Amino acid sequence: MEFPFDRVASFIKGLYPGKEFIPLHAPVFNGNERKYVLDTIESTFVSSVGAYVDKFEEMMCHITGAKYAVAIVNGTNALHLALILAGVNAQDEVLGQSLTFIATYNALSYIGAQPVFIDIDRDTLGLSPEALELFLLKNADQRADKYCYNKVTGRRIAACVPMHTFGLPCRIDEIREICNKWNITLVEDAAESLGSYYKGIHTGLYGEIGTFSFNGNKTITSGGGGAIVTNNEALARRAKYLSTQAKVPHPWAFVHDEVGYNYRMPNLNAALACAQLEQLDGFIENKRELSALYQNEFEKLGIQYCREIDGAKSNYWLNAILLKDRNTREAFLEYMNSHGVMSRPVWELMHKLPMFMHAQRDEQVNAEWIADRLVNIPSSVRK
Ligand SMILES: *Cc1c(COP(=O)(O)O)cnc(C)c1O
Repeated sequence: MEFPFDRVASFIKGLYPGKEFIPLHAPVFNGNERKYVLDTIESTFVSSVGAYVDKFEEMMCHITGAKYAVAIVNGTNALHLALILAGVNAQDEVLGQSLTFIATYNALSYIGAQPVFIDIDRDTLGLSPEALELFLLKNADQRADKYCYNKVTGRRIAACVPMHTFGLPCRIDEIREICNKWNITLVEDAAESLGSYYKGIHTGLYGEIGTFSFNGNKTITSGGGGAIVTNNEALARRAKYLSTQAKVPHPWAFVHDEVGYNYRMPNLNAALACAQLEQLDGFIENKRELSALYQNEFEKLGIQYCREIDGAKSNYWLNAILLKDRNTREAFLEYMNSHGVMSRPVWELMHKLPMFMHAQRDEQVNAEWIADRLVNIPSSVRK
């Protein structure tokens, strides 16, 4: 059977009626966005101090169930800070998936840490616990200092950073267990998975630290923004301190006793975030309805749709389907993008990029299989 590109395109156009061009993911501002942003201007508190920053952190705790949330200027810097908090040093290694957005590996590169790429599962599109365990059994040992070392490179394996791809939760409970066993700190890149749960716990809370992004293309946006969540009070306090230039708290004195970062989210952005977070439940309901419509249609067409696994509740940030092979993928992208329906392949795998192509990795069978076939299709909240 010829692949029915035209039927897919017209189905998607029917989901977003009256649109010339259907983007992959556009933000929707239907709530208090204007009111809260104007508040910050009228109060003059547009910068790194203000009531919306505190309110945003409270809301993030309430939504995710985290004890502590710290507002950060963007998701990449939230990851950078999270890895510092996790104790990752220059020349340490960090384990993660090759199929992800570049931010994860830029963040660890800022520290001078080295990536090691572990394969994904085909169903979750996230880090595979089996592949992780296999890699560690083959390549790692625990030394007298209790840390885990890579027998091949001699470096310390300090952290593991799984990512919940497109909002689909990975098998994070199993990953946590393996990390605990090997004394590797778990940092979750939950940038794409706000509102996604695994076995009743919000993504980002299985790890010692979790990070989120509120970039313009994410489930909710603050323009630019990020957050760190943790249940560890000492880590939360240190996150706030390091993100505010390592300033020693004092009502007027400016004293800094360490090298810090200017990573605090401005109040202007937090105002937008608060208005968006108020609508999160409705957005997710809307996105899950869209996902159900896609699942039904692609089942009829015999095309594989990437759905959540048992025990997972995805926010379905970006919908994804798997095509027959790379050639079909290319033809699909060509057809959709020239017919007003935006479609995109997955990111180029990290181990193919010039900065990381020499990093240690396992076979990457699933990551390469997925990268050949996967496309994302329009996923915005429908008004
Ligand atoms: C969006 C994203 C980030 C962070 O992005 P920012 O644009 O810096 O907020 C990090 N990791 C992943 C997987 C992402 O999708």
